[in-house]
Amino acid sequence: MSIPTIDQIRKAPKVLLHDHLDGGLRPATVVDLAAEQGYDRLPTTDPQELAAWFVAAAPRRDLVRYLEGFAYTVGVMQSGEALERVAEECVEDLASDGVVYAEVRFAPELHTERGLTLEEVVESVLAGFDRAMKRSATQGRPIVVRALLTAMRTAARSREIAELAVSYRDAGVAGFDVAGPEAGYPPTDHLDAFHLVQRENFHATLHAGEAFGLPSIWQAIQWCNAERLGHGVRIVDDIVVADDGGVSLGRLAAYVRDRRIPLEMCPTSNVHTGAVPSLGEHPIGLLRRLHFRVTVNTDNRLMSGITLSSELAGLVETFGWSWRDINWITINAMKSAFYPFDDRLALIEGRIKPGFAALDPDAGTAAARDQSGTYAPAADERLIY
Ligand SMILES: [Zn+2]
Repeated sequence: MSIPTIDQIRKAPKVLLHDHLDGGLRPATVVDLAAEQGYDRLPTTDPQELAAWFVAAAPRRDLVRYLEGFAYTVGVMQSGEALERVAEECVEDLASDGVVYAEVRFAPELHTERGLTLEEVVESVLAGFDRAMKRSATQGRPIVVRALLTAMRTAARSREIAELAVSYRDAGVAGFDVAGPEAGYPPTDHLDAFHLVQRENFHATLHAGEAFGLPSIWQAIQWCNAERLGHGVRIVDDIVVADDGGVSLGRLAAYVRDRRIPLEMCPTSNVHTGAVPSLGEHPIGLLRRLHFRVTVNTDNRLMSGITLSSELAGLVETFGWSWRDINWITINAMKSAFYPFDDRLALIEGRIKPGFAALDPDAGTAAARDQSGTYAPAADERLIY
């Protein structure tokens, strides 16, 4: 079986569900925007040094301090033009990395320091996404990018942000999210917002089980009706692996697996924030083996110095993942997207399966082909997506 290289992974049609707009700026853009807006608080105005600063600052192994790095990116994203530019470049960078579908999140309330309204923030980002998507399509690498609107769990505006997300649902916003430090800010503080989303037949994910344990995950699912879990790593606290390799799941872990609740896992980010000591110790290896609905994501490309391709290549190296694993992860993500069912199927059948078939040398084997001759996972894998 061939081992996927990073160059091959870059060409694979990938899906990204958890990526922060303010965590993925190009370093040179941060410098440019700071100059344009008279923002003088950057640690350096040299793009290379700044890139290194962000990555060096990331492995702080503490979520609260990790979040401090966002003061600089958010600080320069305070005008409509700046937001449009950042949104456009985000789409360009994801398309260059071979991403075919992405949900990119941002917190509108963080971009109103210089007088933008929440609506202006959302419209600027969506305009940037649209322009870059159109350009990408003409360049022969079509990508679909949708926005998720995030409310900060430390603030009290979640209901307002949920209403905002619902009102832009036909203009490119695919769902609602809550983010920020977990300890002391339980998901149930935002019940109102989540119930509004649910009553509107709209979509919600929630940062839960990243730095805080099972109660956060339980509340996210059973109180807030979150359809997906942002991170969700601490679900491993409800799983016991015996010395003989036998595994037993607690009731919450069993529920998450039985209901196929997607886990938006962000391995490198988890190492950098201290949620997990090292990539090798990340529960993603175990959760993949146990067939939880695992997806792989970047979280903050700038702060962690990563791309989705490098993240997947890291998992290939750490856990010995094959093309089959990357394909499984990708289809898991597409199936879990807040995107209409028909459109999801069209991307799976029209882009993802053919793209993987072209890259995976084992795709020609009987197990990987269905009767119509198109690439398909082996029967046992197909049952457990
Ligand atoms: Zn996140």
